[in-house]
Amino acid sequence: MSDTGGGHRASAEALRDAFLIEFGDAYQVFVRDLGKEYGGWPLNDMERSYKFMIRHVRLWKVAFHGTSPRWVHGMYLAALAYFYANEVVSGIMKYKPDIIISVHPLMQHIPLWVLKWQSLQPKVPFVTVITDLNTCHPTWFHHGVTRCYCPSAEVANRALIQGLQLSQVRVFGLPIRPSFCRAVLEKDEIRKELELAPELPAVLLMGGGEGIGPVEETARALGEELYDYRRRRPMGQIVVICGRNQVLRSTLQSLRWKVPVKLQFGLGFWLMCEDVFLQIRGFEKQMEKWMGACDCIITKAGPGTIAEALIRGLPIILNDFIPGQEVGNVPYVVDNGAGVFSKDPREASRQVARWFSTDADALQRFSRNALQLAQPEAVFDIVKDIHKLQQQSAAVTRIPYSLTSSFSYHI
Ligand code: UDP
Repeated sequence: MSDTGGGHRASAEALRDAFLIEFGDAYQVFVRDLGKEYGGWPLNDMERSYKFMIRHVRLWKVAFHGTSPRWVHGMYLAALAYFYANEVVSGIMKYKPDIIISVHPLMQHIPLWVLKWQSLQPKVPFVTVITDLNTCHPTWFHHGVTRCYCPSAEVANRALIQGLQLSQVRVFGLPIRPSFCRAVLEKDEIRKELELAPELPAVLLMGGGEGIGPVEETARALGEELYDYRRRRPMGQIVVICGRNQVLRSTLQSLRWKVPVKLQFGLGFWLMCEDVFLQIRGFEKQMEKWMGACDCIITKAGPGTIAEALIRGLPIILNDFIPGQEVGNVPYVVDNGAGVFSKDPREASRQVARWFSTDADALQRFSRNALQLAQPEAVFDIVKDIHKLQQQSAAVTRIPYSLTSSFSYHI
């Protein structure tokens, strides 16, 4: 995996947790970023460059579409393999894996070349779990994988068009952390725990793991639209999760709000009024609770956040998307009646205000559609299928230690 965005790690951890639930200690699962730990530049710097590019979306658009042709990314990745294959071999062999799972498009080519040249396939099955819901980058579709797990029929079609065999493709859904799928969450209890008002409807506002998109503008607009001036009280409460975006968090904390705010300063020092209607949070580890406590969500079209919100039955307002891989997530949500798309922060906030006042029926309808689209069992179906693959190849011996020796590159 790689921490480019929050979705790849979330999927990797979901698979790890599902292995533990399904098979106990029969598997040891290591979640690793091989490029960062064993590769050199640019593999070890992907997090920083990705963050930079998605903040300059035109640059990202050029990179996404410019590298789409197979010959372009093929040559680029072959060059990287030339420089770093030896290091990646030692990285992989350190764990002597029985199976390798990739949840990142750029974490397939080099390991697969390594397995091929070391004659380790099919002894060590290599599977890819795609973490984009629709318009994913063609680098995801590597012909050499044992399995390619596609989160939707749209992605499976793309895989087949890109030349994968039917026998390689499986469609179960996007793997979401079991804490989302299996937990029984009582809304009143979680609200108490998270110090949210028990009766007032709540909107969750976020922008993926990096806190990107028009979060600040939307938070301001929500602060206005969810305040009932006539009755001089809020008609909804707001939770803003800024993820790893520290600048966003401190900017929001420094604003003057009409509604009472709960602010967190440093480690555990809180400034708050008696009733809190706005919470500004950093990177949260228990997203299932925040989603379980809220009634709808405003987010960029991140696949992880969308799939999690569907499982929690949250109507979704999409307010942005990363060009390329997230474009197709908008029709996925809107055409299936699980939410709406609005880039205008004021309009998105008015939509929430309507849902929380005059249009509560629509909120219920979107929620039902969201639950219908959700695939909470996907992560378990994927690990069970991987387990079957592992059993099929179990007759083949484990990787001998001698293979940790150096690797020579032939082209
Ligand atoms: N996330 C989280 N804590 C946060 C913010 C986000 O755990 O404070 C998780 C979120 O639940 C989701 C992932 O980060 O699983 C974001 O993935 P998504 O595909 O939506 O967007 P990305 O960040 O990859 O662009």
